[in-house]
Amino acid sequence: MPHETRHRVVVLGGGFGGVFTAKNLQRVAGSDVEILLISRHNFFVFQPLLAEIAGGSINPGDGVTPLRRFLPGVSVMVAEVRAIDLEGKKVEVTLDRGSGIRTVAYDQLVIALGQVVDLSRTPGLADSALVMKDLVDAFNIRNKVLGCLERADAAIDAERKRSFLTFVVIGGGFTGIETVGEVQELIGKSLRYYPNIRADEVRIILIQHGSRILMELPEHLAAYAAEQLRRRGIEIRLRTGVAAATATGIETDSGQQIDAATIVAAIGNAPSSLVRSLPVALERGRIVVDRHLRVPGQDGVWALGDNAQIPLGDARDGKVAYAPPLAQFAVREAKVLARNILAQMEGRALTVFEYRSLGTMASLGGRRGVAEIMGVRITGFIAWAAWRAFYLSLLPGVATRIRVAADWLLDLMVSKSIAEIRAAQPGSGQVRFRAGELVFVPGIDPGGLYVVTAGMFEVGADQHQAAAEGRGENAGSTRKLGPGGHFGMSLARTAGPGDGWARACEDSIAYFVGKDDLHRLAMVAALIGSKQDSDEASRIAASRDR
Ligand SMILES: Cc1cc2nc3c(=O)[nH]c(=O)nc-3n(C[C@H](O)[C@H](O)[C@H](O)COP(=O)(O)OP(=O)(O)OC[C@H]3O[C@@H](n4cnc5c(N)ncnc54)[C@H](O)[C@@H]3O)c2cc1C
Repeated sequence: MPHETRHRVVVLGGGFGGVFTAKNLQRVAGSDVEILLISRHNFFVFQPLLAEIAGGSINPGDGVTPLRRFLPGVSVMVAEVRAIDLEGKKVEVTLDRGSGIRTVAYDQLVIALGQVVDLSRTPGLADSALVMKDLVDAFNIRNKVLGCLERADAAIDAERKRSFLTFVVIGGGFTGIETVGEVQELIGKSLRYYPNIRADEVRIILIQHGSRILMELPEHLAAYAAEQLRRRGIEIRLRTGVAAATATGIETDSGQQIDAATIVAAIGNAPSSLVRSLPVALERGRIVVDRHLRVPGQDGVWALGDNAQIPLGDARDGKVAYAPPLAQFAVREAKVLARNILAQMEGRALTVFEYRSLGTMASLGGRRGVAEIMGVRITGFIAWAAWRAFYLSLLPGVATRIRVAADWLLDLMVSKSIAEIRAAQPGSGQVRFRAGELVFVPGIDPGGLYVVTAGMFEVGADQHQAAAEGRGENAGSTRKLGPGGHFGMSLARTAGPGDGWARACEDSIAYFVGKDDLHRLAMVAALIGSKQDSDEASRIAASRDR
């Protein structure tokens, strides 16, 4: 078929749904169809392995598959989808900051944009917690854990050390359990390199709203998992919600404060604003499709995966079961969807989506797992090995499989790397503090500038240091700062440890401008204006503390 007349199928999203639809469609349609896959990354993330990346068992780059390598015959565009115009049959994308909007037309559209993490229901949580959704999240968790061990090993202040050594994971589903298990294993295997940290000083806490963990699994498997995690020292708090979070910990719904420098939220899956804005029927924020995965009323538009509400049968007693947001379902949906696109083009009958899960399994770290496969329940080492074998077989691309298998082998043979790789300074954003909470103490790099937006902070100089520097009269002097006040680093000084401390006098909020952003602001401030200021900008650029 000549290229100009080829039917163009645009697939949005490079996750399980999108990638496997493109792969299957290419297989069944060959060059008769032009397939364009648009996604924000040029690689596919195998989310079930993210916890292992966070735990350091798999190198971040090894656990992902480059899209162009996995999808020969499919065009790949790395871009952010900004808008979908269903009437005009086109999507708007941006390739990069400042590159402007580009329009891509389609004959058929597959929407597989997954879900996002929305923590906005709990005050402060989005500002304070790490999440577990993408490759960079797993990378951040690993580095945060190792960074806390480093800070704790060097800490003088006991309160601060306790906070560095407290790790909270929120959510007792698969993601939370696998994450907490891997975090514990990473810490357990790293502690021998930190002579100033005793094992009994480390607290790892799992917070679960429900009455038990792993609600998706039969009760006795969940009980086994809980028992295994507790044996490894993980505290499991059931029937506990998080009422609020701050930069230094959480407050539970029963009013208990837990000071923790590391908070991981394995909760809050929600539809993206792009999906929510579509003029189609949504249920629980997911796109309603029929059993053929078509979006009703929209010619040539299909949806699958986590962003679709897919009926698994016809209504019985007024109730319909829907496909759960799981990778194993998305992969099967993709197969049916690819066949249906071709069938529709050729005027053949479409296939309905039907799939019964073969089972569920979870890795608990520490070479333990739980699984129910075709009704058979297994626990312990065998379940853990089955988990690894199953996911290894599902990984797309032989090269990725070999890399992951090699990482696992190495992890069994040599000690885990404890290299803390800090890709960037903490970003800017709103931070909440409880009354009495310390923001930073003498000798600790404040990391940026704090602008008070609500409440009151007290800031002061370190008495010993001020005295040693001959600032006797200022030693111990404090200031109170309300909304509009600022402390920490300044535009003039964007590097180096602080010689003061700051504490919230009451429940307070500050806008934190991270060191990197502050540095940029200082450059902008210097650049706006005269030649003399551009010299100042060069000085700032040269003096940057990296
Ligand atoms: C930590 C974790 C562990 C999991 N473990 C398991 C498990 O053990 N077993 C299991 O069956 N399932 C598991 N799941 C669930 C499973 O990963 C999902 O069901 C599956 O990824 C859904 O596929 P999807 O294609 O719908 O969405 P995703 O895989 O999330 O893909 C969505 C894609 O769209 C892209 N995208 C989104 N918005 C835009 C935009 N505006 N512009 C451009 N690109 C965009 C994203 O970058 C991504 O590539 C896990 C999920 C997580 C987060």
